[in-house]
Amino acid sequence: MDKQTLSFQAEVKQLLHLVTHSMYSNKEIFLRELVSNASDACDKLRFEALNNNALFEDQPNLEVRVSFDKAARRIVISDNGIGLSAQEAIEHLGTIAKSGTKEFMGKLEGEQAKDANLIGQFGVGFYSGYIVADRITVESRRAGVAITEGVRWSSEGTGDFEVETITRETRGTDVILHLREGEDEFLSTWKLKSIISKYSDHISLPVLMRKESWDAQKDENVVSDEWEPVNKAAALWARSKSDITDAEYKSFYEQLTYDTTPPLAYTHNRVEGRTEYTQLLYIPAKAPMDLWNRDKRGGVKLYVKRVFIMDDAEALMPTYLRFVKGVIDSADLPLNVSRELLQESRDVKAIREGSTKRVLSMLESLADHEDAAEKAKYAAFYKEFGAVLKEGVGEDHANQERLAKLLRFASTHAEEGVSFADYVSRMKEGQEAIYYITADTLAAAKNSPQLEIFKKKGIEVLLFTDRVDEWMLSHLYEFEGKNLQSVAKGAVDLGSLQDEEEKKQAEVAAEGFKPTLDRLKTALGERAKDVRVTTRLVDSPACLVTEEGDMSGHLARLLKQAGQ
Ligand code: ADP
Ligand code: MG
Repeated sequence: MDKQTLSFQAEVKQLLHLVTHSMYSNKEIFLRELVSNASDACDKLRFEALNNNALFEDQPNLEVRVSFDKAARRIVISDNGIGLSAQEAIEHLGTIAKSGTKEFMGKLEGEQAKDANLIGQFGVGFYSGYIVADRITVESRRAGVAITEGVRWSSEGTGDFEVETITRETRGTDVILHLREGEDEFLSTWKLKSIISKYSDHISLPVLMRKESWDAQKDENVVSDEWEPVNKAAALWARSKSDITDAEYKSFYEQLTYDTTPPLAYTHNRVEGRTEYTQLLYIPAKAPMDLWNRDKRGGVKLYVKRVFIMDDAEALMPTYLRFVKGVIDSADLPLNVSRELLQESRDVKAIREGSTKRVLSMLESLADHEDAAEKAKYAAFYKEFGAVLKEGVGEDHANQERLAKLLRFASTHAEEGVSFADYVSRMKEGQEAIYYITADTLAAAKNSPQLEIFKKKGIEVLLFTDRVDEWMLSHLYEFEGKNLQSVAKGAVDLGSLQDEEEKKQAEVAAEGFKPTLDRLKTALGERAKDVRVTTRLVDSPACLVTEEGDMSGHLARLLKQAGQ
Protein backbone atom coordinates (compact mmCIF):
# COMPACT_ATOMS: atom_id res chain seq x y z
CA MET A 1 0.00 0.00 0.00
CA ASP A 2 1.38 3.38 -0.97
CA LYS A 3 1.31 6.17 1.49
CA GLN A 4 -2.18 7.52 1.96
CA THR A 5 -3.67 10.23 4.09
CA LEU A 6 -6.89 9.49 5.91
CA SER A 7 -9.09 11.53 8.18
CA PHE A 8 -9.88 10.71 11.81
CA GLN A 9 -13.45 9.83 12.66
CA ALA A 10 -15.26 12.86 14.14
CA GLU A 11 -15.41 11.31 17.60
CA VAL A 12 -11.65 10.72 17.56
CA LYS A 13 -11.07 14.41 16.91
CA GLN A 14 -13.34 15.22 19.80
CA LEU A 15 -11.54 12.77 22.08
CA LEU A 16 -8.13 14.06 21.00
CA HIS A 17 -9.18 17.57 21.82
CA LEU A 18 -10.55 16.55 25.20
CA VAL A 19 -7.50 14.50 26.13
CA THR A 20 -4.85 16.98 25.10
CA HIS A 21 -6.66 19.92 26.67
CA SER A 22 -7.82 18.51 29.96
CA MET A 23 -5.22 15.93 30.92
CA TYR A 24 -2.31 18.27 31.15
CA SER A 25 -2.07 18.15 34.93
CA ASN A 26 -1.90 14.38 34.78
CA LYS A 27 0.18 13.96 31.68
CA GLU A 28 2.35 11.07 32.83
CA ILE A 29 -0.59 8.69 32.33
CA PHE A 30 0.35 8.47 28.64
CA LEU A 31 2.94 5.89 29.62
CA ARG A 32 0.45 3.86 31.60
CA GLU A 33 -1.85 3.76 28.57
CA LEU A 34 0.83 2.84 26.05
CA VAL A 35 2.43 0.22 28.27
CA SER A 36 -0.98 -1.24 28.95
CA ASN A 37 -1.68 -1.44 25.19
CA ALA A 38 1.68 -3.13 24.70
CA SER A 39 0.84 -5.60 27.43
CA ASP A 40 -2.64 -6.21 25.95
CA ALA A 41 -1.00 -6.89 22.58
CA CYS A 42 1.24 -9.52 24.21
CA ASP A 43 -1.76 -11.08 25.95
CA LYS A 44 -3.56 -11.24 22.62
CA LEU A 45 -0.62 -12.94 20.97
CA ARG A 46 -0.37 -15.48 23.75
CA PHE A 47 -4.06 -16.16 23.36
CA GLU A 48 -4.02 -16.54 19.56
CA ALA A 49 -0.90 -18.66 19.76
CA LEU A 50 -2.77 -21.24 21.79
CA ASN A 51 -4.18 -22.48 18.49
CA ASN A 52 -1.22 -21.52 16.34
CA ASN A 53 2.11 -21.80 18.02
CA ALA A 54 3.90 -20.54 14.89
CA LEU A 55 2.79 -17.00 15.77
CA PHE A 56 5.59 -16.80 18.30
CA GLU A 57 8.04 -16.97 15.36
CA ASP A 58 11.48 -17.10 16.96
CA GLN A 59 10.58 -14.88 19.92
CA PRO A 60 8.66 -16.75 22.59
CA ASN A 61 9.44 -14.30 25.39
CA LEU A 62 6.87 -11.57 25.44
CA GLU A 63 8.04 -8.23 26.73
CA VAL A 64 7.70 -4.47 26.55
CA ARG A 65 10.68 -2.18 26.05
CA VAL A 66 10.72 1.51 26.82
CA SER A 67 13.58 3.61 25.54
CA PHE A 68 14.33 7.21 24.70
CA ASP A 69 16.64 9.24 22.53
CA LYS A 70 17.62 12.49 24.12
CA ALA A 71 19.04 14.09 21.02
CA ALA A 72 16.10 13.20 18.81
CA ARG A 73 13.65 13.96 21.69
CA ARG A 74 11.79 10.70 21.22
CA ILE A 75 10.37 8.02 23.47
CA VAL A 76 9.69 4.55 22.06
CA ILE A 77 7.34 2.00 23.61
CA SER A 78 7.97 -1.29 21.94
CA ASP A 79 6.34 -4.71 22.26
CA ASN A 80 6.61 -8.08 20.56
CA GLY A 81 2.91 -8.78 20.84
CA ILE A 82 0.27 -9.42 18.22
CA GLY A 83 1.03 -6.31 16.14
CA LEU A 84 -1.27 -4.51 13.72
CA SER A 85 -2.01 -5.04 10.05
CA ALA A 86 -2.44 -1.91 7.92
CA GLN A 87 -6.19 -2.36 8.03
CA GLU A 88 -6.15 -2.75 11.80
CA ALA A 89 -3.99 0.33 12.19
CA ILE A 90 -6.53 2.33 10.18
CA GLU A 91 -9.45 0.97 12.13
CA HIS A 92 -8.06 0.86 15.63
CA LEU A 93 -6.04 4.04 15.58
CA GLY A 94 -8.41 6.14 13.52
CA THR A 95 -11.83 5.29 14.89
CA ILE A 96 -13.28 4.55 18.28
CA ALA A 97 -14.60 1.04 18.45
CA LYS A 98 -15.21 0.87 22.16
CA SER A 99 -18.92 1.07 22.66
CA GLY A 100 -18.88 3.08 25.86
CA THR A 101 -16.56 5.77 24.59
CA LYS A 102 -18.98 7.95 22.67
CA GLU A 103 -21.45 7.85 25.49
CA PHE A 104 -18.74 8.73 27.93
CA MET A 105 -17.59 11.75 25.92
CA GLY A 106 -21.15 12.94 25.63
CA LYS A 107 -21.36 12.96 29.40
CA LEU A 108 -18.14 14.86 29.73
CA GLU A 109 -19.30 17.77 27.65
CA GLY A 110 -19.72 21.06 29.41
CA GLU A 111 -19.06 21.34 33.11
CA GLN A 112 -17.49 17.98 33.68
CA ALA A 113 -15.08 18.28 30.79
CA LYS A 114 -12.37 19.44 33.13
CA ASP A 115 -12.58 16.50 35.45
CA ALA A 116 -9.27 14.89 34.64
CA ASN A 117 -9.81 12.27 37.28
CA LEU A 118 -12.87 10.98 35.49
CA ILE A 119 -11.09 10.84 32.19
CA GLY A 120 -8.17 9.08 33.80
CA GLN A 121 -10.48 6.52 35.32
CA PHE A 122 -12.09 5.87 32.01
CA GLY A 123 -8.78 5.07 30.33
CA VAL A 124 -8.03 7.45 27.52
CA GLY A 125 -6.03 4.95 25.55
CA PHE A 126 -3.68 5.42 22.66
CA TYR A 127 -4.54 9.08 22.09
CA SER A 128 -3.15 10.05 25.48
CA GLY A 129 0.24 9.98 23.77
CA TYR A 130 -0.68 13.35 22.31
CA ILE A 131 -0.61 14.94 25.73
CA VAL A 132 3.17 14.95 25.47
CA ALA A 133 3.82 14.31 21.76
CA ASP A 134 3.12 16.49 18.75
CA ARG A 135 3.61 13.53 16.44
CA ILE A 136 3.20 9.83 17.03
CA THR A 137 4.54 7.24 14.63
CA VAL A 138 3.50 3.63 14.96
CA GLU A 139 5.46 0.92 13.20
CA SER A 140 4.09 -2.56 13.40
CA ARG A 141 3.90 -6.02 11.91
CA ARG A 142 1.23 -8.51 12.77
CA ALA A 143 2.44 -11.85 14.10
CA GLY A 144 2.62 -14.51 11.41
CA VAL A 145 2.51 -12.26 8.32
CA ALA A 146 5.37 -11.64 5.87
CA ILE A 147 7.98 -9.04 6.80
CA THR A 148 6.92 -7.01 3.77
CA GLU A 149 3.48 -6.60 5.30
CA GLY A 150 4.49 -4.15 8.00
CA VAL A 151 2.74 -0.82 8.48
CA ARG A 152 3.76 2.71 9.40
CA TRP A 153 1.06 4.96 10.80
CA SER A 154 1.84 8.56 11.64
CA SER A 155 -0.11 11.58 12.77
CA GLU A 156 0.14 14.91 14.52
CA GLY A 157 -3.08 14.09 16.27
CA THR A 158 -5.18 16.80 14.71
CA GLY A 159 -7.27 16.12 11.64
CA ASP A 160 -5.72 13.23 9.79
CA PHE A 161 -3.14 10.47 9.75
CA GLU A 162 -0.92 8.76 7.20
CA VAL A 163 -0.50 5.03 6.61
CA GLU A 164 1.86 3.10 4.38
CA THR A 165 3.19 -0.41 4.00
CA ILE A 166 6.73 -1.01 5.19
CA THR A 167 9.12 -3.91 5.55
CA ARG A 168 9.65 -4.80 9.16
CA GLU A 169 11.69 -7.68 10.53
CA THR A 170 10.38 -7.80 14.04
CA ARG A 171 6.92 -8.81 15.08
CA GLY A 172 4.89 -6.42 17.22
CA THR A 173 4.67 -2.68 17.57
CA ASP A 174 6.84 0.36 18.18
CA VAL A 175 5.01 3.48 19.32
CA ILE A 176 7.31 6.44 18.76
CA LEU A 177 6.47 9.68 20.53
CA HIS A 178 8.01 12.84 19.17
CA LEU A 179 7.90 15.04 22.22
CA ARG A 180 6.31 18.45 22.28
CA GLU A 181 8.40 21.47 23.14
CA GLY A 182 8.91 21.63 26.89
CA GLU A 183 8.35 17.92 27.67
CA ASP A 184 12.02 17.04 28.02
CA GLU A 185 11.56 15.93 31.61
CA PHE A 186 10.43 12.58 30.20
CA LEU A 187 13.79 12.03 28.54
CA SER A 188 15.16 10.51 31.71
CA THR A 189 15.60 6.92 32.84
CA TRP A 190 14.74 7.86 36.38
CA LYS A 191 11.55 9.67 35.39
CA LEU A 192 10.26 6.93 33.08
CA LYS A 193 11.18 4.20 35.58
CA SER A 194 9.28 5.91 38.35
CA ILE A 195 6.15 6.27 36.20
CA ILE A 196 6.34 2.63 35.18
CA SER A 197 6.64 1.41 38.72
CA LYS A 198 3.81 3.69 39.77
CA TYR A 199 1.35 2.48 37.16
CA SER A 200 2.63 -0.70 35.63
CA ASP A 201 4.36 -2.61 38.37
CA HIS A 202 1.83 -5.42 38.35
CA ILE A 203 1.30 -6.09 34.70
CA SER A 204 2.27 -9.68 34.24
CA LEU A 205 5.12 -9.32 31.77
CA PRO A 206 8.44 -7.55 32.07
CA VAL A 207 8.84 -3.93 31.08
CA LEU A 208 12.49 -3.43 30.19
CA MET A 209 14.61 -0.32 30.03
CA ARG A 210 18.28 0.15 29.18
CA LYS A 211 20.60 -0.06 32.13
CA GLU A 212 22.17 3.20 33.12
CA SER A 213 25.48 3.49 34.86
CA TRP A 214 27.80 6.17 36.10
CA ASP A 215 30.61 7.10 33.77
CA ALA A 216 33.35 8.74 35.84
CA GLN A 217 35.20 10.06 32.83
CA LYS A 218 32.18 11.79 31.36
CA ASP A 219 30.97 12.63 34.86
CA GLU A 220 27.42 11.62 34.00
CA ASN A 221 25.08 8.66 33.73
CA VAL A 222 25.39 6.78 30.47
CA VAL A 223 22.85 4.45 28.96
CA SER A 224 24.25 1.03 28.12
CA ASP A 225 23.05 -1.53 25.58
CA GLU A 226 21.92 -3.90 28.28
CA TRP A 227 18.21 -4.16 29.14
CA GLU A 228 16.84 -4.70 32.63
CA PRO A 229 13.33 -5.18 33.98
CA VAL A 230 11.94 -2.15 35.79
CA ASN A 231 8.66 -3.59 37.07
CA LYS A 232 7.90 -6.51 39.36
CA ALA A 233 6.18 -8.39 36.52
CA ALA A 234 4.69 -10.91 38.88
CA ALA A 235 0.96 -11.31 38.82
CA LEU A 236 0.16 -9.99 42.29
CA TRP A 237 -2.65 -12.44 42.90
CA ALA A 238 -0.30 -15.38 42.31
CA ARG A 239 1.95 -14.31 45.15
CA SER A 240 1.48 -15.47 48.69
CA LYS A 241 -0.87 -13.32 50.78
CA SER A 242 1.66 -12.94 53.56
CA ASP A 243 4.16 -11.33 51.17
CA ILE A 244 1.80 -8.65 49.92
CA THR A 245 1.37 -5.34 51.68
CA ASP A 246 -1.83 -3.35 51.92
CA ALA A 247 -0.17 -0.67 49.79
CA GLU A 248 0.56 -3.24 47.07
CA TYR A 249 -3.02 -4.44 47.06
CA LYS A 250 -4.19 -0.87 46.71
CA SER A 251 -1.76 0.01 43.97
CA PHE A 252 -2.80 -3.12 42.09
CA TYR A 253 -6.40 -1.97 42.38
CA GLU A 254 -5.49 1.36 40.89
CA GLN A 255 -3.67 -0.30 38.00
CA LEU A 256 -6.58 -2.57 37.39
CA THR A 257 -9.33 0.03 37.49
CA TYR A 258 -7.68 3.43 37.01
CA ASP A 259 -9.67 4.41 40.07
CA THR A 260 -7.53 6.60 42.30
CA THR A 261 -9.88 6.31 45.28
CA PRO A 262 -8.69 3.35 47.36
CA PRO A 263 -11.09 0.40 47.48
CA LEU A 264 -13.34 -0.09 50.51
CA ALA A 265 -12.31 -3.67 50.97
CA TYR A 266 -10.65 -6.56 49.21
CA THR A 267 -10.33 -10.28 49.58
CA HIS A 268 -7.59 -12.56 48.29
CA ASN A 269 -7.87 -16.33 48.47
CA ARG A 270 -6.59 -19.46 46.92
CA VAL A 271 -9.49 -21.87 46.73
CA GLU A 272 -8.66 -25.54 46.62
CA GLY A 273 -10.81 -28.59 46.19
CA ARG A 274 -12.77 -29.80 43.21
CA THR A 275 -12.30 -26.51 41.39
CA GLU A 276 -9.10 -24.64 42.01
CA TYR A 277 -8.76 -20.96 41.54
CA THR A 278 -7.37 -17.79 43.01
CA GLN A 279 -9.58 -14.78 43.56
CA LEU A 280 -8.57 -11.24 44.28
CA LEU A 281 -11.72 -9.16 44.54
CA TYR A 282 -12.21 -5.51 45.40
CA ILE A 283 -15.17 -3.41 46.43
CA PRO A 284 -14.72 0.09 45.02
CA ALA A 285 -15.53 3.11 47.12
CA LYS A 286 -17.45 4.89 44.40
CA ALA A 287 -20.04 3.69 41.94
CA PRO A 288 -19.18 4.06 38.27
CA MET A 289 -21.41 6.26 36.12
CA ASP A 290 -22.87 3.29 34.34
CA LEU A 291 -23.75 1.26 37.42
CA TRP A 292 -27.36 1.09 36.30
CA ASN A 293 -26.55 -0.38 32.96
CA ARG A 294 -27.26 -4.01 33.64
CA ASP A 295 -25.84 -4.98 30.25
CA LYS A 296 -22.50 -3.65 31.25
CA ARG A 297 -20.13 -6.51 31.74
CA GLY A 298 -18.72 -7.02 35.18
CA GLY A 299 -15.34 -5.93 36.37
CA VAL A 300 -13.59 -9.24 36.88
CA LYS A 301 -10.79 -10.36 34.61
CA LEU A 302 -10.35 -14.03 33.91
CA TYR A 303 -6.95 -15.66 33.80
CA VAL A 304 -6.16 -19.32 33.37
CA LYS A 305 -2.89 -20.28 35.04
CA ARG A 306 -1.76 -16.67 34.83
CA VAL A 307 -2.54 -16.38 31.14
CA PHE A 308 -4.95 -13.56 30.52
CA ILE A 309 -8.14 -14.85 28.90
CA MET A 310 -10.69 -12.04 28.96
CA ASP A 311 -11.83 -8.83 30.54
CA ASP A 312 -15.17 -8.49 32.21
CA ALA A 313 -16.04 -12.15 32.29
CA GLU A 314 -19.67 -11.66 33.31
CA ALA A 315 -20.19 -15.36 33.98
CA LEU A 316 -17.86 -15.13 36.97
CA MET A 317 -20.10 -12.87 39.03
CA PRO A 318 -23.84 -12.48 39.32
CA THR A 319 -25.20 -9.33 37.66
CA TYR A 320 -26.06 -7.71 40.96
CA LEU A 321 -22.37 -7.82 41.93
CA ARG A 322 -21.28 -6.09 38.72
CA PHE A 323 -19.50 -3.41 40.73
CA VAL A 324 -16.93 -5.88 42.08
CA LYS A 325 -13.50 -5.53 40.46
CA GLY A 326 -10.65 -7.97 40.41
CA VAL A 327 -9.05 -11.03 39.01
CA ILE A 328 -9.95 -14.68 39.00
CA ASP A 329 -7.29 -17.12 37.95
CA SER A 330 -8.52 -20.63 37.31
CA ALA A 331 -6.35 -23.72 37.34
CA ASP A 332 -8.96 -25.90 35.65
CA LEU A 333 -10.48 -24.08 32.70
CA PRO A 334 -9.09 -24.74 29.23
CA LEU A 335 -7.04 -21.86 27.86
CA ASN A 336 -9.22 -21.55 24.79
CA VAL A 337 -12.40 -21.08 26.77
CA SER A 338 -14.96 -18.79 25.11
CA ARG A 339 -17.65 -16.63 26.66
CA GLU A 340 -20.24 -19.15 25.52
CA LEU A 341 -18.38 -22.03 27.10
CA LEU A 342 -18.02 -20.07 30.31
CA GLN A 343 -21.78 -19.82 30.64
CA GLU A 344 -22.09 -23.59 30.66
CA SER A 345 -19.03 -24.65 32.59
CA ARG A 346 -19.54 -26.32 35.96
CA ASP A 347 -16.20 -25.00 37.11
CA VAL A 348 -17.35 -21.48 36.35
CA LYS A 349 -20.54 -22.08 38.28
CA ALA A 350 -18.47 -23.17 41.26
CA ILE A 351 -16.24 -20.13 40.89
CA ARG A 352 -19.25 -17.82 40.70
CA GLU A 353 -20.82 -19.30 43.77
CA GLY A 354 -17.57 -19.20 45.70
CA SER A 355 -16.84 -15.64 44.69
CA THR A 356 -20.35 -14.48 45.51
CA LYS A 357 -20.01 -15.93 48.99
CA ARG A 358 -16.67 -14.20 49.42
CA VAL A 359 -18.08 -10.84 48.45
CA LEU A 360 -21.03 -11.30 50.78
CA SER A 361 -18.79 -12.20 53.70
CA MET A 362 -16.63 -9.20 52.94
CA LEU A 363 -19.73 -7.01 53.14
CA GLU A 364 -21.00 -8.75 56.26
CA SER A 365 -17.77 -8.22 58.08
CA LEU A 366 -17.86 -4.51 57.23
CA ALA A 367 -21.50 -4.24 58.25
CA ASP A 368 -21.04 -6.02 61.56
CA HIS A 369 -17.67 -4.61 62.42
CA GLU A 370 -17.17 -3.41 65.98
CA ASP A 371 -14.85 -0.71 64.78
CA ALA A 372 -16.90 2.40 64.00
CA ALA A 373 -14.68 3.39 61.08
CA GLU A 374 -15.24 0.03 59.38
CA LYS A 375 -18.94 0.24 60.02
CA ALA A 376 -18.98 3.70 58.49
CA LYS A 377 -17.42 2.12 55.42
CA TYR A 378 -20.45 -0.09 55.15
CA ALA A 379 -22.74 2.91 55.25
CA ALA A 380 -20.63 4.49 52.51
CA PHE A 381 -20.78 1.30 50.50
CA TYR A 382 -24.52 1.10 50.93
CA LYS A 383 -25.05 4.61 49.71
CA GLU A 384 -23.25 3.79 46.48
CA PHE A 385 -24.30 0.23 45.83
CA GLY A 386 -27.17 -0.69 48.15
CA ALA A 387 -29.83 -0.44 45.49
CA VAL A 388 -27.90 -2.84 43.25
CA LEU A 389 -27.65 -5.33 46.08
CA LYS A 390 -31.44 -5.34 46.19
CA GLU A 391 -31.50 -6.85 42.70
CA GLY A 392 -29.82 -9.86 44.25
CA VAL A 393 -32.72 -10.44 46.61
CA GLY A 394 -34.82 -11.41 43.61
CA GLU A 395 -32.09 -12.97 41.52
CA ASP A 396 -30.08 -15.03 43.91
CA HIS A 397 -32.37 -17.26 45.90
CA ALA A 398 -29.58 -19.22 47.50
CA ASN A 399 -28.27 -16.06 49.13
CA GLN A 400 -31.54 -14.21 49.63
CA GLU A 401 -31.41 -14.34 53.40
CA ARG A 402 -27.82 -13.12 53.58
CA LEU A 403 -28.65 -10.31 51.20
CA ALA A 404 -31.75 -9.32 53.15
CA LYS A 405 -29.61 -8.95 56.24
CA LEU A 406 -27.31 -6.60 54.38
CA LEU A 407 -30.10 -4.23 53.36
CA ARG A 408 -30.59 -0.88 55.09
CA PHE A 409 -33.62 1.36 55.00
CA ALA A 410 -35.23 4.48 56.28
CA SER A 411 -38.09 4.01 58.69
CA THR A 412 -40.48 6.01 60.79
CA HIS A 413 -37.87 5.67 63.56
CA ALA A 414 -34.64 6.56 61.73
CA GLU A 415 -33.74 8.39 58.53
CA GLU A 416 -31.33 5.70 57.35
CA GLY A 417 -29.39 2.61 58.20
CA VAL A 418 -32.25 0.51 59.57
CA SER A 419 -31.75 -3.21 58.99
CA PHE A 420 -34.45 -5.84 59.18
CA ALA A 421 -32.74 -7.10 62.31
CA ASP A 422 -32.96 -3.63 63.91
CA TYR A 423 -36.61 -3.51 63.01
CA VAL A 424 -37.36 -6.92 64.46
CA SER A 425 -35.57 -6.04 67.69
CA ARG A 426 -37.89 -3.02 68.08
CA MET A 427 -41.12 -4.85 67.27
CA LYS A 428 -43.92 -4.29 69.75
CA GLU A 429 -45.23 -6.93 72.06
CA GLY A 430 -47.71 -8.92 69.97
CA GLN A 431 -46.58 -7.49 66.63
CA GLU A 432 -46.32 -10.21 64.04
CA ALA A 433 -45.50 -8.52 60.76
CA ILE A 434 -42.82 -6.19 59.45
CA TYR A 435 -44.70 -3.17 58.15
CA TYR A 436 -43.55 -1.10 55.22
CA ILE A 437 -44.72 1.45 52.71
CA THR A 438 -43.37 2.22 49.24
CA ALA A 439 -43.28 5.70 47.71
CA ASP A 440 -41.31 7.86 45.31
CA THR A 441 -39.70 9.98 47.95
CA LEU A 442 -39.01 9.87 51.62
CA ALA A 443 -41.28 12.84 52.22
CA ALA A 444 -44.17 11.18 50.40
CA ALA A 445 -43.65 8.00 52.35
CA LYS A 446 -43.48 9.78 55.69
CA ASN A 447 -46.60 11.84 55.10
CA SER A 448 -48.72 9.02 53.86
CA PRO A 449 -52.10 8.88 55.66
CA GLN A 450 -51.77 5.12 55.73
CA LEU A 451 -49.14 5.52 58.43
CA GLU A 452 -51.38 7.35 60.90
CA ILE A 453 -52.45 4.46 63.05
CA PHE A 454 -48.89 3.14 63.16
CA LYS A 455 -47.56 6.47 64.29
CA LYS A 456 -50.23 6.72 66.94
CA LYS A 457 -49.34 3.33 68.29
CA GLY A 458 -45.60 3.88 67.94
CA ILE A 459 -45.19 0.97 65.55
CA GLU A 460 -42.20 1.32 63.25
CA VAL A 461 -42.82 1.25 59.50
CA LEU A 462 -40.05 0.80 56.94
CA LEU A 463 -40.05 3.42 54.20
CA PHE A 464 -39.04 2.07 50.81
CA THR A 465 -38.19 4.69 48.21
CA ASP A 466 -35.77 3.04 45.77
CA ARG A 467 -37.12 2.24 42.33
CA VAL A 468 -36.07 -1.36 42.69
CA ASP A 469 -37.86 -1.80 46.03
CA GLU A 470 -41.22 -2.76 44.57
CA TRP A 471 -39.57 -5.39 42.44
CA MET A 472 -37.51 -6.64 45.35
CA LEU A 473 -40.58 -6.90 47.54
CA SER A 474 -42.27 -9.06 44.96
CA HIS A 475 -39.55 -11.61 45.73
CA LEU A 476 -39.13 -11.17 49.45
CA TYR A 477 -42.04 -12.17 51.63
CA GLU A 478 -40.54 -12.54 55.04
CA PHE A 479 -37.54 -12.02 57.21
CA GLU A 480 -36.74 -14.57 59.90
CA GLY A 481 -40.28 -15.87 59.88
CA LYS A 482 -41.91 -12.42 60.06
CA ASN A 483 -44.09 -11.56 57.09
CA LEU A 484 -43.50 -8.36 55.23
CA GLN A 485 -46.76 -6.47 55.16
CA SER A 486 -47.50 -3.35 53.14
CA VAL A 487 -49.51 -0.79 55.08
CA ALA A 488 -51.02 0.34 51.79
CA LYS A 489 -52.49 -3.02 50.95
CA GLY A 490 -55.61 -4.82 52.11
CA ALA A 491 -57.18 -4.38 55.48
CA VAL A 492 -54.27 -3.83 57.77
CA ASP A 493 -54.83 -6.36 60.45
CA LEU A 494 -53.10 -5.13 63.51
CA GLY A 495 -54.06 -8.39 65.20
CA SER A 496 -53.32 -8.41 68.86
CA LEU A 497 -51.90 -4.89 68.61
CA GLN A 498 -55.46 -3.66 68.43
CA ASP A 499 -57.16 -3.40 71.78
CA GLU A 500 -60.70 -4.55 72.51
CA GLU A 501 -61.95 -0.99 72.68
CA GLU A 502 -60.75 -0.25 69.14
CA LYS A 503 -62.20 -3.45 67.75
CA LYS A 504 -65.57 -2.57 69.17
CA GLN A 505 -65.37 0.98 67.85
CA ALA A 506 -64.66 -0.37 64.38
CA GLU A 507 -67.67 -2.64 64.48
CA VAL A 508 -69.94 0.16 65.63
CA ALA A 509 -68.58 2.48 62.96
CA ALA A 510 -69.03 -0.16 60.24
CA GLU A 511 -72.66 -0.48 61.24
CA GLY A 512 -73.27 3.28 61.48
CA PHE A 513 -71.55 4.08 58.19
CA LYS A 514 -73.28 1.36 56.21
CA PRO A 515 -75.59 3.73 54.27
CA THR A 516 -72.64 6.04 53.49
CA LEU A 517 -70.53 3.12 52.30
CA ASP A 518 -73.35 1.90 50.06
CA ARG A 519 -73.78 5.30 48.51
CA LEU A 520 -70.01 5.62 47.91
CA LYS A 521 -69.87 2.18 46.32
CA THR A 522 -72.66 3.06 43.93
CA ALA A 523 -71.06 6.39 43.09
CA LEU A 524 -67.61 4.92 42.46
CA GLY A 525 -68.95 1.90 40.62
CA GLU A 526 -66.26 0.01 38.73
CA ARG A 527 -63.55 2.35 39.85
CA ALA A 528 -63.30 0.92 43.35
CA LYS A 529 -63.35 -2.72 44.33
CA ASP A 530 -64.62 -1.99 47.78
CA VAL A 531 -65.28 0.82 50.21
CA ARG A 532 -64.89 0.09 53.86
CA VAL A 533 -64.51 1.58 57.29
CA THR A 534 -61.00 1.55 58.66
CA THR A 535 -59.26 2.06 61.96
CA ARG A 536 -55.99 2.85 60.30
CA LEU A 537 -56.65 6.57 59.94
CA VAL A 538 -56.26 9.02 62.76
CA ASP A 539 -56.31 12.48 61.18
CA SER A 540 -57.26 11.92 57.54
CA PRO A 541 -60.85 11.17 56.51
CA ALA A 542 -60.02 8.62 53.80
CA CYS A 543 -57.21 6.87 51.98
CA LEU A 544 -56.70 4.54 49.02
CA VAL A 545 -55.42 1.03 49.48
CA THR A 546 -54.91 -1.80 47.05
CA GLU A 547 -56.04 -5.31 47.58
CA GLU A 548 -53.68 -7.81 49.14
CA GLY A 549 -51.81 -9.50 46.29
CA ASP A 550 -52.49 -6.68 43.83
CA MET A 551 -49.94 -4.35 42.35
CA SER A 552 -49.36 -1.50 44.74
CA GLY A 553 -50.42 2.01 43.79
CA HIS A 554 -46.79 3.02 43.75
CA LEU A 555 -45.82 0.24 41.35
CA ALA A 556 -48.77 1.03 39.13
CA ARG A 557 -47.55 4.63 38.93
CA LEU A 558 -43.99 3.52 38.16
CA LEU A 559 -45.19 1.30 35.33
CA LYS A 560 -47.36 4.05 33.96
CA GLN A 561 -44.37 6.40 33.97
CA ALA A 562 -42.41 3.76 32.09
CA GLY A 563 -45.18 3.70 29.52
CA GLN A 564 -46.58 0.26 30.34
P1 ADP B 1 -8.12 0.09 24.27
O1 ADP B 1 -6.74 -0.33 24.68
O2 ADP B 1 -8.98 0.36 25.45
O3 ADP B 1 -8.75 -0.83 23.27
P2 ADP B 1 -6.69 2.21 23.07
O4 ADP B 1 -7.05 3.56 22.57
O5 ADP B 1 -5.67 2.17 24.13
O6 ADP B 1 -8.00 1.50 23.53
O7 ADP B 1 -6.18 1.36 21.84
C1 ADP B 1 -6.98 1.23 20.70
C2 ADP B 1 -6.67 -0.02 19.92
O8 ADP B 1 -5.46 0.10 19.21
C3 ADP B 1 -6.48 -1.26 20.76
O9 ADP B 1 -7.70 -1.86 21.09
C4 ADP B 1 -5.63 -2.14 19.83
O10 ADP B 1 -6.48 -2.81 18.91
C5 ADP B 1 -4.82 -1.14 19.09
N1 ADP B 1 -3.48 -1.02 19.68
C6 ADP B 1 -3.02 -0.01 20.45
N2 ADP B 1 -1.75 -0.23 20.84
C7 ADP B 1 -1.39 -1.42 20.30
C8 ADP B 1 -0.19 -2.22 20.32
N3 ADP B 1 0.91 -1.84 21.00
N4 ADP B 1 -0.21 -3.39 19.63
C9 ADP B 1 -1.30 -3.78 18.94
N5 ADP B 1 -2.45 -3.09 18.89
C10 ADP B 1 -2.50 -1.92 19.56
MG1 MG C 1 -5.58 0.85 25.87
